[in-house]
This record gives sequence, C-alpha cells and structure tokens, in this order.
Amino acid sequence: MLFDSHAHFDAAATDLDVGAVMGRAQAAGVGQVMAVGGSETLNRGALAVADAFPGQARAAIGFGRDLAPALTVGTRDVLAQAMAALEAQIVAHPGKVKAIGEIGLDFHYTPETADAQGVLFWAQLQLARKRGLPVVVHSRDADEVTLSNLATFAQPSEGYTGGRGVLHCFTGGERFSRALLEIGFYISFSGIVTFRNAEALRAVARRIPDDRLLIETDSPYLAPVPMRGNPNEPAYVRHVAEALAEARSCSVDEIAQLTTENARRLFAFTV
Ligand SMILES: [Zn+2]
Repeated sequence: MLFDSHAHFDAAATDLDVGAVMGRAQAAGVGQVMAVGGSETLNRGALAVADAFPGQARAAIGFGRDLAPALTVGTRDVLAQAMAALEAQIVAHPGKVKAIGEIGLDFHYTPETADAQGVLFWAQLQLARKRGLPVVVHSRDADEVTLSNLATFAQPSEGYTGGRGVLHCFTGGERFSRALLEIGFYISFSGIVTFRNAEALRAVARRIPDDRLLIETDSPYLAPVPMRGNPNEPAYVRHVAEALAEARSCSVDEIAQLTTENARRLFAFTV
C-alpha cells in the first residue's frame, strides 16, 4: 500500500470529482492520503475529504505564506482570530485533523513579505505545539529561517516531547536535509524527484534514513514523469515511489512499506 502524504483538494474547484479521484487512488494501491490545506478553501476541501473518506483520508489545516500579509496586518487581533478559527475547525472535526499545514516560508517568490511570513509561521508552530500536532512545512530559499523556527519548535520542554513534522516537496540540498533530520523531521519527496534534471535531488534522497522518508504528490500540482501536463492526483504517487526505489536501489514495495509506516507514525493514523 502507498500513502500520499500531501494532496490538496480545493473546495472552490467545482469540476473536482473527489469520489473519482479517491477511487482511482484506491485502485492504484494508494490506500491513504493526507489531505492538506493552506487557505480557507483548501482547508475546507481537506476537511471535506477527511469527513467523506474516513477509511482513507485525514486532514492538515493551516494558512500558507501567501496569506501572511493579510493575516498579520494591523493589530494582533487579526492573527489571533485566524488561529482561533483554525483551532475551532480542529475541535469541530474530532480525530480528523492530524497536522497543521501547509505552513512555511517562501523567499523565492515573495521575499518582500518575509517578515510577515515569519510571524504567521511562528504563530502556527505555537498552535501545533498547543494542540500536540505535527506540522507540514513548505520552505523555498528560506533554509536558515525555516530551520531556526523548527529547531525551537522541536525542542522538548516540560510536559511536551517536542514538535515533529515534515518538510514537504523537498528540493533542498544535503546540508538542509541533514539539519532537518537532526531535529527529528521527516523529508517528503514529490514528483520533482522523477524529473530528468533532478539528479542532485535523487542523490539527497539516496541518503535519507529509511525511517524519515515520505512520498507525496502535492496534487493537483507537479505531476510526475510520465504524467506531465495532466492535473496531478494521489494515484500518481506510485511514480514518486518508483523514482525513489531506483535512486535507493531497492524495490518499490520496500519504498511503499517504509513510507507508509513513516506517514502513519508521523500523522498518528489509526485507520
Ligand atoms: Zn502543497
């Protein structure tokens, strides 16, 4: 069985047939899916999938870096209200929300909002800590700031074992991956690892310990080879597993087994 640790379902996408998508995932051996939010409509989509497919899916909800300027503007009330709204959704869906995400920093596309992104990121790490949930983290061209936030989050304190999580759609280098592993984080590879020019990334993937490796589609974005040009969906996570199996000189079954175990452990899946 395969586990897609990161797929989006936009509640505002009227042409999205979630039943068909989940059916094709099941038929392709993708037994479980983490439905990941990041905005109002992605959060609603993730919760709807977790509610509708209790044997297959759970949700992560959170606010992505694009929302940072709006959520950190003016008084701190705006941010506090956004955090309260997330917490209310967690409480309203008992057992369905297994992570806060996706959250994080992107200094590649929006370096001008770096400060606001940092404020929103930290607030959500605090929420994850309060709720005892792992985090699903995006980081692009922000290695240092991401790491310093996550290192603090991962620190144990009295009555708290320390924050856990995954760096999703990993495209970083060896050093970044090692630092994340050191603070107990998981590393998730997307369809990017199937790209012809991704030899450096496959070299990083080769060295991730068995017990920290995850796979994902990040659907509907980033379709893997050989599905380029199509909307991505969880069924295609098999192609990511195949690329990793080749990079790590092991079987697809082994990749499937260990990444499923890892995802189930990280997200406390009991289904
Ligand atoms: Zn994503």
